[in-house]
Amino acid sequence: MGSQETTISVGGVAGPVHVKIFPVPDCLFCGIAASEIPATIVSSNPRTIAFRDINPQAPVHILVIPRAHHPNLAELAAADVGLLADLVAHAHEVALAEGIADTGYRVVFNTGRHGGQTVDHVHAHVIGGRQMTWPPG
Ligand code: AMP
Ligand code: ZN
Repeated sequence: MGSQETTISVGGVAGPVHVKIFPVPDCLFCGIAASEIPATIVSSNPRTIAFRDINPQAPVHILVIPRAHHPNLAELAAADVGLLADLVAHAHEVALAEGIADTGYRVVFNTGRHGGQTVDHVHAHVIGGRQMTWPPG
């Protein structure tokens, strides 16, 4: 079964904006993007959404996703590099809003099995509020 076009209304800078999305069936983050699955959204715009990770690994742990379904970082970069730029800009906005931009934070795109990716809808983890360690586990 292919994905079904859906129009959703989201808050834009100048009021509600209607955005067409093509949610992939059974994709958890498409469900959040379509407001079908609840999430603690911290900020959103017509192209990207930031919401709290359900299993936080640090005092601040927020996921930033594109509304459009792209499976991983490489496929997003190949398909729409402008959307990737929007995603990274939104990640920094989240860090500013959460008060961790000055102390520093980490942006992680887990990719594939060895990368630890468990949801195949690209997402940036924005993690901070404590000292990070290196190397990662
Ligand atoms: P990854 O393992 O890099 O694919 O990251 C997936 C992330 O999604 C994990 O950190 C999960 O804790 C998080 N997660 C899974 N389900 C939800 C949900 N319903 N709402 C918010 N975060 C979620
Ligand atoms: Zn998706």
